[in-house]
Amino acid sequence: MTTAVDCDSCRDFALTAGDLFVTLDAAGVIRGAEGEASLLHFPTTSRLLGRSVLELIGEGETHRLREDLWALAPGRRLTWETSAGIEEGRRFTVRRNPGAPGQFHLVVVRISRVRQLRSERADDVLAERFRDAVMNGRLKAARQPVVNISSGAVSHYEVLARFSGEQSPLELITAAEKSGQISHLDYIMVEAAARRLSHTPDPAYRLAVNISGESLQNYEVMRELCAAICGHDFQRDRLILEVTESSEIADIDTAARSVVLLRSQGLGVSLDDFGAGAASFGYLRDLDVNGLKFDGGFLRAPSRSSRGFALMRSVARMCADLGISPVGEKVETEDDLKLLIEAGVPYAQGYLFGRPAIDETFLVRSRRGGLHERASA
Ligand code: C2E
Ligand code: CA
Ligand code: CA
Repeated sequence: MTTAVDCDSCRDFALTAGDLFVTLDAAGVIRGAEGEASLLHFPTTSRLLGRSVLELIGEGETHRLREDLWALAPGRRLTWETSAGIEEGRRFTVRRNPGAPGQFHLVVVRISRVRQLRSERADDVLAERFRDAVMNGRLKAARQPVVNISSGAVSHYEVLARFSGEQSPLELITAAEKSGQISHLDYIMVEAAARRLSHTPDPAYRLAVNISGESLQNYEVMRELCAAICGHDFQRDRLILEVTESSEIADIDTAARSVVLLRSQGLGVSLDDFGAGAASFGYLRDLDVNGLKFDGGFLRAPSRSSRGFALMRSVARMCADLGISPVGEKVETEDDLKLLIEAGVPYAQGYLFGRPAIDETFLVRSRRGGLHERASA
């Protein structure tokens, strides 16, 4: 059931954007429509009711909806534009109803009006660049070692996305999180890591892959990740999923269920960026993770103080009680390493041990890549 509040907020959202507001059920059948139906080449909105939305929009967009809806978290939206001229161009926005995840709202607007919505556009351009790189095989992966401080041996490698050379992916990843598309990346990276592990029988070779807190809050995505992993034969504890704290986890219940699901498969689950956000302690309490990574901020001023150090040392002790082996990241100097050793942190990662290096063979897949492969698998 959709509550009045949900309906109102979706309608408000539609009105700030523009012209046609359509409500779809989980099967994509139009159940409500307000505004200008001529945008979908229909004379009146009443003629839209009962039709499948896939019949009404172009082939390219149909493909896109099929590919993208599964990954859209409740409350998140997805936006794209048709490439028609400025006058006739259309912009599509699909939003999953936060109160009723089986329901979607589609907003169609004339592109000339949308051009005025400048602030939204910047994020959309980045999200489009993200999508283009992911779907057209331009995505690459780098690997960086995580070492056992006492033995000096490599414990495992963290896999990091690269969209353009050595450059940080953070800007595109943040835009993809906001636009609800990040799960595509998480899926591709997890699947590729599972494949690499199955092709590398050495039990000492282990990988950590980042997954967004956004994906963790979408149980459907988690099931897809597990299904992808199941297609590959390897000892499950060789794969660690690092949950990044780049976006806040609002639905902690679903996130906790997701962690239970991943752990029940035998996978490692680690809480990344610990201490970077205000909610880290709450996540550690509620999510049954078996790993933790201290945010690199602990090694920089002002956290590199007696107070910051005491906090890191206490959490490292707590980790020992919980059976968690913590990692310290962004270790650049011998002094950074010394601080971690004094705090009782057993694992380290950073330029001191090795920079992320692009691994050209990690994402070997068809040119189309991404979810085309997933959808037809
Ligand atoms: P993160 O998971 O905290 O990754 C560690 C970041 O620190 C990486 O930045 C890495 O290049 C950088 N780094 C490593 N050693 C050092 C060091 O000694 N000093 C300094 N200053 N930096 C160091 P990068 O590659 O730019 O990634 C940024 C963030 O993007 C990641 O932070 C993670 O949150 C996100 N990310 C990267 N790849 C993926 C991915 O495949 N999926 C998802 N969901 N997020 C990803
Ligand atoms: Ca990480
Ligand atoms: Ca981190």
